[in-house]
Amino acid sequence: MRRTAEPYKIKAVEPLTMLNRGEREEALKRAGYNTFLLDSEDVYIDLLTDSGTNAMSDKQWGALMMGDEAYAGSKSWYKLERAVQDLFGYDYVIPTHQGRGAENLLSQMKIQPGDYIPGNMYFTTTRAHQEMNGGTFVDVIIDEAHDPSAELDFKGNVDLVKLEELIDEVGADKIPYVCVAVTVNMAGGQPVSLANLKETYTLCQEHGIDVMFDATRCVENAYFIQEREEGQQNRPIKDIVRDMFKFSDGCTMSGKKDPLVNIGGFLAMNDFELYTRARELVVVYEGMPSYGGMAGRDMEAMAQGMYESIDDAYIEHRIKQVRYLGEQLMEAGVPVVRPIGGHAVYLDAKAFLSHLDREMFPSQSLAAALYLDSGVRSMERGIVSAGRNKETCEHNVPKLEMVRLTIPRRVYTNSHMDVVADSVINLYNKREQIKGLSMDYEPPTLRFFNARFSPLKSTLIANEA
Ligand SMILES: *Cc1c(COP(=O)(O)O)cnc(C)c1O
Repeated sequence: MRRTAEPYKIKAVEPLTMLNRGEREEALKRAGYNTFLLDSEDVYIDLLTDSGTNAMSDKQWGALMMGDEAYAGSKSWYKLERAVQDLFGYDYVIPTHQGRGAENLLSQMKIQPGDYIPGNMYFTTTRAHQEMNGGTFVDVIIDEAHDPSAELDFKGNVDLVKLEELIDEVGADKIPYVCVAVTVNMAGGQPVSLANLKETYTLCQEHGIDVMFDATRCVENAYFIQEREEGQQNRPIKDIVRDMFKFSDGCTMSGKKDPLVNIGGFLAMNDFELYTRARELVVVYEGMPSYGGMAGRDMEAMAQGMYESIDDAYIEHRIKQVRYLGEQLMEAGVPVVRPIGGHAVYLDAKAFLSHLDREMFPSQSLAAALYLDSGVRSMERGIVSAGRNKETCEHNVPKLEMVRLTIPRRVYTNSHMDVVADSVINLYNKREQIKGLSMDYEPPTLRFFNARFSPLKSTLIANEA
């Protein structure tokens, strides 16, 4: 097989630092064993998130200088608005400071207390906004999405039977919209097929229910469609993206992911009445409908970034770099979520640290151990991220217990991926030595951001030599 390389060359470099093991140990202690609380200057390779960590192109840096910082009617806003209309096909666009700003507006406008919002698995901020507005999230993703070893081309698909059952049970008037994420972050960056998007949209239309995309990773989703769905192989990504969005009534978007910028977002829709309300509401929370919390230069960079994101060579390399890391780990027998998704490799911490029980926070423990081993920062996506049940106050125990190695777009080379693979494999080979954690401080909402931990004293190893 012929090897491929990054479809860009490096014009500016940012030196990396690497602390020694003793310094990393100190840094980890200061951070309460929570990788969210590490200082970035203490991190060597930062795979915490692909959110806002994108590297911009020379054209985007150039575009920053073209930002029109007018308070109203900025040229840069019109450029962004036209890019969204052109690439996604929506009529109306509302800018926001980032994705959750759009989620806030959408949830406030559409959700009444007692409503249900079905989705193909939850996302943290999305669900938080739904709940704060009195709604209840209902998971309607296919069962296989909860099984880390199930090999499926489109593991993010909506289960139409589950969705139809919910509609029958609570009634369509209690469902303001279905939220379809493309790809599904929490399932491991798994895609939704074009066929499933169409079926979901058709079912919702029959019941008069809107479909709102969480479009955060829609270009990555389009790549999987091009790669895997019948009849899509020779079509440009741009056309596939356009086709996907035909099966929706609107979307929320985080500019910090696929649009290749560091901050920004938007809400888009075809319904003029909803748009009119959003124009009122955005002023209260974000800013004028012609900037929504972004600087003119941010909007310029995002418009440019959106066009770069649908470049076929770019997106192919993006997906394949993630897969390059994932395949090295699989070859070494490390348990990972399969198939490798669009933006991250997810370690299956339940299998990796099978000697720890769930209340010892295996994913959190593994993320801490990885930082200690090599200065690589990853993220917990398991019992800590899932929070507690509103009624019982017990931990929500998600089926998946994962550590996410998230690859920033255009930032690291495949050599960095090799370093990460070596470290994970090293840990896997001595996994019995990794201890669990106890939670010393627990914030009431989105606890994973600020929780603090300390190592359990006993090693809980059954047969340590
Ligand atoms: C990041 C993300 C969001 C929220 O976007 P922000 O820009 O971080 O507010 C929503 N949904 C998904 C799937 C995301 O990955």
